[in-house]
Order: sequence, then C-alpha cells, then structure tokens
Amino acid sequence: MAKIIIIGAGGVGNVVAHKCAELSSVFDDIVLASRTEQKCIDIATDVNRSHPSVRIRTAQVDADSTEALIRLFDTEKPFLVINVALPYQDLTIMDACLETGVHYLDTANYEPRDEARFEYSWQWAYQEKFREKGLMALLGSGFDPGVTNVFTAYAAKHYFDEIHELNIIDVNGGDHGHPFATNFNPEINIREVTADCRHWEGGAFVTTPAMSASQRFTCPEGVGEYAIYRMYHEELESLAAHFPSLKKAQFWMSFSDNYLKHLEVLRNVGMIGIEPVDYNGTQVVPLQFLKSLLPDPASLGPRTKGQTCIGCVVSGLKDGELVHRYIYNICNHEACFEEVKSQAISYTTGVPAMIGAKMMVEGTWLKPGVWNLEQLDPDAFMADLNRFGLPWKSTSVASQPF
Ligand code: NDP
Repeated sequence: MAKIIIIGAGGVGNVVAHKCAELSSVFDDIVLASRTEQKCIDIATDVNRSHPSVRIRTAQVDADSTEALIRLFDTEKPFLVINVALPYQDLTIMDACLETGVHYLDTANYEPRDEARFEYSWQWAYQEKFREKGLMALLGSGFDPGVTNVFTAYAAKHYFDEIHELNIIDVNGGDHGHPFATNFNPEINIREVTADCRHWEGGAFVTTPAMSASQRFTCPEGVGEYAIYRMYHEELESLAAHFPSLKKAQFWMSFSDNYLKHLEVLRNVGMIGIEPVDYNGTQVVPLQFLKSLLPDPASLGPRTKGQTCIGCVVSGLKDGELVHRYIYNICNHEACFEEVKSQAISYTTGVPAMIGAKMMVEGTWLKPGVWNLEQLDPDAFMADLNRFGLPWKSTSVASQPF
C-alpha cells in the first residue's frame, strides 16, 4: 500500500483520482494537487461520493516551481507522484522527485513552452540521476503514448521473432456536438496536430508537412470508417529506439472535416501562434488566448457520444514467414462518463496512468532509472487493462493497411 500525489486536476487528473480510489488496497492515501485547488476539491468530493471510505486530500501547488513541489513532497512524503499536469511541468516535477526521493510517472513527454518540440532527450538525460538515487521514472503511461507502447512490446514478445513495421491508429469516433473543441488540453492538442509530421523509415525520421498524408481506415466491430492523417507522435521516438528491427513506424489519427476546417481558419488568422503578440500594451500568446475561449475538455463528458478505437498494426517475421497482427481497444464515451464522469480520451489516458502506478507500487515494474513502457515486461500491464476498463483484442490480419 502506498501514498501517492496526483498533480493536475483536469480531465485526466479526474480519471486518475477515481481509478486510484477504486483500488484503495494499493493506493491507500491520495493527495490531489494542482494550480487551482478548487478543481481538486470538486474531484475529491466526487470521488468520496463513490468511495466514501477512501482517504483523498487536496493541495494547491504551482508545478512550475521546483521549490514549491519540494515543500509539498517533503510534507507529504509520497511513494510516487503521478504527473497529469501539462508537459511543461515534467522537468520541475522530476527535479523535485530527485531532491525528495520520490518515484515519478507521467503521460506526456517534456515540451518547452516556447517551442512546439516533442522529444524524449530532456527526460532521457535524467537516466543516471534516477538510477543513482534508486528511483524510477516511468515516461508516457497514458494510451498513446502508453498502451500503444505496451501493445507493441506485447506483439513483439508473443507474435513475432522480429518486428519490421508498425502503424499506430488512433480513431476517435466520438461527437461532442460543439462546432470545435479538443478532447484534451487545447493548447497541447493544437501544438501537436499542427507540428510537422515525422515518421520512422529506413533508420531515420522523415519529415513531411502536417496532415499531408491521409488514408481511410475501417475500424473493427462496427465502429466505422474514418479519414486518418499521418502525424508525429512521441512514442515513435522511443519505439524506434527500443525496437531497432523496425524499418518503418507511423502514427495516424482521425480528424473530422469540421475539425480540420476550423483548424485551417484558426491557423490562417494567426490564432494558433505560440509567440506573444502585443495587444493594447499586453503581451498575449494567441494559442493560450484561444484555449481560454474553447470548451474545457473536462466539460465534454456529458455531451460526448460514440467510441474510440486505438490500436497497433504490427508486421514482422515469425518462423521465417511475414505475419501481421492488430491489437486494439474500443472505448465508449458514454460508458466512461457513467463510470467516472469523463469522456473516453481522458479515461483512456487516466486508466493506464493508474495501472503504471500500480505496477510500480506493487514492485512488478519498480526499477531504478528512466523508462518507457515498452522496455518493461508487458504481460501484467496487459492483464490489468482487461481488469480495469480497457479490454483489448488481438487479431491476425491479412496485411498492413498502409
Ligand atoms: P487539462 O488542461 O484538462 O488539465 C491540466 C491540469 O494541470 C489542470 O488542472 C491545470 O490546472 C494543471 N496545471 C497546469 N499547469 C500547472 C502548474 N503550473 N501547476 C500545477 N498544476 C498545473 O489537461 P488534461 O487533463 O486533458 O491532460 C493532462 C495531461 O495528460 C497532459 O500532459 C496531456 O498532454 C496528457 N495526455 C496524455 C495522453 C496520452 O494518451 N498519453 C492523452 C491525453 C492527454 P488549472 O486547472 O489551474 O489550469
């Protein structure tokens, strides 16, 4: 049993708090801390409504300040911090963990606020520091990255002698009824989807313009057919590094025509810029201002209908034959809302964060150093996905879809 601190009280923080509370035999003391404490209090009240005996407290913290984090960790002395604030805070939280002897987990790689640059280099540079202190940092324990890394590791372990090609396909068939909204933090989401596309091919990353490659993909089990667009996603970097046999790795995400139309207009008028502009003597970052106008992703839960279908198509050699395997999860937005008052994007991120934390607390994955999920044995994590709300299926397919 362990005490944890969850940092971040957004859509994902809400799910992590609910799912950890569900497992009070593992997480017996929960502190939910964020910039705006009232959001933590609202979540904690809701958690206690469903789990009256669970010990969950709240705190205010500015996670941009290592000193403030050190004070909180020194007072609370948690075993582990689950970071579901924003990618900008990864390094300050990792620094505070090192200073106070606390294990670390996040769901998104560090990103400097003034550059839309997604790479693990900053966090991988902490490898020795964590190892020397006997602490573990688990990077990217959401769905993608996270479950997609575990799906790939599971496929490599159980179905192949060598994997050659990977296509990660993230379809959100949900409809929230707003003209334009993002399913997780709008600033992070828009920075991600408008960045140049990079995919792994022939031993290097190949750069192409954002959204310049698209396909149609038919999801299984009647979820439907969607237009999916190739984009860069951070797990490509770690998977290419940790599976050197991969000749090609691509990430695809579905977008509706309506979403793309709004994004194009917002881009054309300069509303997604990340450089400050002067407005009547005030410095305003257009994307941050846009975020303040858009619906809060946490508010989409009650309105979102439909399903997500996220999975990996892996190809490679088994006993000298070329074979293809598709591992996927289908998640229903309305069922997620009924369970934890959240739409499926926050749910599919928060459940794997809880499972990663469980694996660390129980010692299954506890190992000093900085790790991506595919570096650890996938079997227990895959079993827990089935147990805690993200059941998966694995099927043999005739060929790669792309
Ligand atoms: P939200 O914007 O809904 O929530 C972020 C939370 O972090 C808010 O409570 C916010 O506080 C808090 N926060 C922001 N800055 C600070 C700070 N300086 N100090 C303390 N708290 C702070 O985001 P989501 O819940 O949608 O996403 C959370 C994380 O999950 C993000 O990093 C996102 O990239 C990641 N993610 C990962 C996915 C995956 O599959 N791997 C998928 C989806 C998301 P306040 O309320 O005051 O603004």
